[in-house]
Amino acid sequence: MSEDCIFCRIVDGELPARVVYEDDDVLAFLDANPLAPGHTLVVPKDHYETLGDLPADEGEAVFAALHRLTPVVEAAVGADGSNVAFNNGEAAGQEVPHVHGHVIPRFEDDGGRPVHAVAG
Ligand code: 5GP
Repeated sequence: MSEDCIFCRIVDGELPARVVYEDDDVLAFLDANPLAPGHTLVVPKDHYETLGDLPADEGEAVFAALHRLTPVVEAAVGADGSNVAFNNGEAAGQEVPHVHGHVIPRFEDDGGRPVHAVAG
């Protein structure tokens, strides 16, 4: 737990979030500023800043959650696909320094632009 980390505070229940999945290692919740309906964030419960800091077993837990959740999120919002992405490090646009995967649902009629173009 990092006291000044927003996602640690969500994991700890100090800040509200719309949680869609939880297991021993991982929490998933809806993004507060979604790029598409159902935009979901998947975070390890322990605090690591980037993917390189994440121990392999916790990385496996995050990937397993992404693997399980992505089709469920897509079905929930009627998406035709999704972008699953990590902004890794400040230079890559990572704003919250607690490693997290994005599941961003995509739709046939949304223009088909790659995720960096969608994110602006
Ligand atoms: P990043 O740019 O770090 O990859 O993405 C951070 C994401 O976290 C952004 O999509 C942003 O909307 C989301 N976010 C930031 N603060 C909060 C928050 O307090 N609650 C939730 N649910 N999402 C947040």
